[in-house]
Amino acid sequence: MLKLIKNIEIYSPKFIGKKDVLIASDKIFRIEENVTIDASFDILEIDGSGKLLFPGFIDSHVHILGGGGEGGFKTRTPEIMLSDITKAGVTTVIGTLGTDGTTRTMASLLAKANALEEEGISTFINTGSYQIPVKALTNSITEDILLIDKIVGVGEIAIADHRSSHPTVNDLIKIASEARVGGMLSGKVGVVNIHMGDSKSMMSLIERVIEESDIPKKHFLPTHMNRNPYLFEKSIEYAIGGGFVDYTTSTVPLFIEEGEVAAYRTLKHLMDKGVDMSLVTFSSDGQGSLPIFDEKGEMRGIDIGKVSSLYEAVKDAVLKENIDIEIAISTITSNPAKIYGLKGKGKVLEGMDADLVIVSKEDMKIDKVIAKGKIMVDGEKIVIKGTFE
Ligand code: ZN
Repeated sequence: MLKLIKNIEIYSPKFIGKKDVLIASDKIFRIEENVTIDASFDILEIDGSGKLLFPGFIDSHVHILGGGGEGGFKTRTPEIMLSDITKAGVTTVIGTLGTDGTTRTMASLLAKANALEEEGISTFINTGSYQIPVKALTNSITEDILLIDKIVGVGEIAIADHRSSHPTVNDLIKIASEARVGGMLSGKVGVVNIHMGDSKSMMSLIERVIEESDIPKKHFLPTHMNRNPYLFEKSIEYAIGGGFVDYTTSTVPLFIEEGEVAAYRTLKHLMDKGVDMSLVTFSSDGQGSLPIFDEKGEMRGIDIGKVSSLYEAVKDAVLKENIDIEIAISTITSNPAKIYGLKGKGKVLEGMDADLVIVSKEDMKIDKVIAKGKIMVDGEKIVIKGTFE
């Protein structure tokens, strides 16, 4: 069925005014001032007055298979459900493994990504986990990225963290080289998603890799860069130098008390320092555990990251920090699409996938979520549920 959204203000993420958007099957077919269709068949018309239209959100770091386990087996977090993703306006996720690359495997991660794709959203995954050597699905990182459509990068490789394998400069150069070649041969980017921990060494490993090798900066996407004020300062410096930076939106009040910079507050600082805002992304770290450690490294408690924190952070940046909608929304749409080279994603343009989020103009509350042309969420109602919901 054709769907026609009438009179809606569009952030593509660039503001392009009030227009009509015609969706044919899973694609955006036309964006014009006034689309009229004289047809004998049904067209679903959606009134867009008083609403804003955004590209479907991209969450580039989600533990779709569950994560955690750092406080023993009982602290393993469960697999994500479709509606946890779609209710949050997210239509594309990149799944990743975390600390546990033993009981959580690449085969399971790929199967979960396939399941979510069958249920209606778009999914990709990274190969590997915190640890090195990377346990690829095939023989190598290069082969994984080259041969498996869904694999777009490697990671999250942990550095500067007590839970990491403490990779050396050469280790990381080798990983990045493999990702780069896999990307080149398959028309992907081959991103190295790096989990940043709290250690004092901070980004020195990445800086040395860039200095001592020919690997371009565009391959590295360090995440959790807002986890403490020192790392956040460092991230600004890294972004001024042209590096991509990703800030994590899931948090708990204690982390903020201890100095984590809330993701919604990062953008103003970055803009004040003159950072090119197309380098900046947000991701939720959804379904990952939020383990709380004391100064001796003992775990004190655990919480579960939520994908819903992604758009909440963007909304707070706009409503509380007065950030332009175009800039705030880019961090979860066009920027991650470009960094990961996701074709058809991240923009409201003719010919792109019909992944769309309609929000109220008044309070930016999500009204409708459309993934590949299908209405997934309509107001409070989940239209398409996951198989086991
Ligand atoms: Zn991480």
